Amino acid sequence: MLRSLAEVPAEAAKKYGEKPAFVFEDRVATFAALERETNRCAAAFVSLGITSGDRITLYAGNCWEWVVCYYGALKAGAVINPVNVMLTVEEVAFIAKNCATSIILVSSDHPENVAALVKRCPEQRLVMFGSEIPPDGVLSFDSLLNGDGDSFSTDSLDSEAVCTIAYTSGTTGYPKGACLTHSNILLNVAMSSLMHARCSDDTVVSALPFSHVYGNIVLNSAIQCGMTLVAHRRFDASAALRSIEEHRATLFEGVPTMYHYMVNAAESANCDLSSVRLCTVGGQTMSIAKLQEVERLFGCPLIELWGMTELGGLGTTFAVTGPQKQGSIGVPLPYTKVRITDLSDKSKTVSTGETGELSIQGPIVMKGYYDNDSATREVIDEQGWLSTGDVAWMDEEGFVYVIDRKNDMIITAGYNIYPAELERVISSHPDVVMVAVGAINDVDKGELAKAYIVLKDGASPSSESILAHCRNYLAPYKVPRAIQFVNDLPKTSSGKVMRRRLHELDNSLQVAI
Ligand code: ATP
Ligand code: MG
Repeated sequence: MLRSLAEVPAEAAKKYGEKPAFVFEDRVATFAALERETNRCAAAFVSLGITSGDRITLYAGNCWEWVVCYYGALKAGAVINPVNVMLTVEEVAFIAKNCATSIILVSSDHPENVAALVKRCPEQRLVMFGSEIPPDGVLSFDSLLNGDGDSFSTDSLDSEAVCTIAYTSGTTGYPKGACLTHSNILLNVAMSSLMHARCSDDTVVSALPFSHVYGNIVLNSAIQCGMTLVAHRRFDASAALRSIEEHRATLFEGVPTMYHYMVNAAESANCDLSSVRLCTVGGQTMSIAKLQEVERLFGCPLIELWGMTELGGLGTTFAVTGPQKQGSIGVPLPYTKVRITDLSDKSKTVSTGETGELSIQGPIVMKGYYDNDSATREVIDEQGWLSTGDVAWMDEEGFVYVIDRKNDMIITAGYNIYPAELERVISSHPDVVMVAVGAINDVDKGELAKAYIVLKDGASPSSESILAHCRNYLAPYKVPRAIQFVNDLPKTSSGKVMRRRLHELDNSLQVAI
């Protein structure tokens, strides 16, 4: 077992040498090149004065340089703080300040961000990679890269040291910085790779951002297992389908919205997807009807996984060789335990089949939130149980079913409605691509459920047809009281629907019932 993530490139280079590790646009890089380049990069960080534990913020989209800087920073003993390239300069400034980062590393692909960051973050050193000449006040990273990439010692790194500060998606509020250790992430990679039987024969296509824990696990498991990773900078359904065909990919990994768009684009793209042996989906709930539609498209299983930034990746999933239960998020990773606790008393575990809050314990649980002990104490108890904020139940065989986030519950005339339940039902309507359900205020009933629906290309069902579908599956009090057809839904930078911003879509065309 490796002691630190910094050892990953050297170990992979020893085993897989000249095999392609990474494909990005027209660039192909081998495992040996990854080792050499990350050594040069680590030396450059040291020349910039980076010492053990210093934070480096990486603000860039998926690309080869991202991967090199990520492992290079880890080799130099730094704590990496990856942030999504879609975040605004203000959001990055908040995070950089929050975790007192030393360096913000940016890509020359976004010159407008670089200039704005210089003004906004005077306490941080701005360093730019890419061939462009950086603006005033910004250092060129490429000019610091010297030598042949001779090996770089990582022996002093401690497996229990924090190596990553990953900010949560901000789906429910301000993002929080989860402090993850080398062993948190190494174990998550090892256990999830074991469950999904990843190996060096696999080629994975993914457009998940490496800055998010799900994309980060895809990256780390690809490098550790000796797979070829075909990375996309951002998701485009037709491009993803073509990439799978071109590279004869065996794996595809994504969030539900990606699959929704791929199903929609599949007919016109007309690609051969027969090489794919497994797809994974996580980050948000997906209806069984949609899961099955994706399985029909790919002709292989679509395995659900459930994860959290606070776990450095996955918490539960299915073993490819074990039983599958659609609608469930699977079982905990090995060496990890889950339990369901009373919604109003975390010390009480509820019985099998009863709903409550999902808690998780084990070696993948983060150390805590960066510089925020009170927030950490709110979610991790003395025995190391992490309260996830998700409402779930467990069946007799230990399979877990997530219902929704505790705080997104809608209370209508005293009845509890979980938006995810409505979303699953509405998204199984054949004309629906995506749906999100939010609450609207009502004088009499407190809150009412409203559905925001994206339709399939060319479909134009009546609101009544959607409601009739809901009435078939839902108790009358759960049927949404308003429907609005929309072109798209507000999403986080990792592609998750943000229910808290649905009200921005409100217009007078909604159908009130
Ligand atoms: P924030 O904590 O800032 O509000 P976030 O919770 O969306 O953002 P992440 O750590 O990216 O940040 O997401 C973890 C959450 O995503 C889980 O707590 C759960 O609510 C949801 N989630 C992940 N996987 C699944 C899944 N397979 N099914 C349903 N929900 C999921
Ligand atoms: Mg969260």
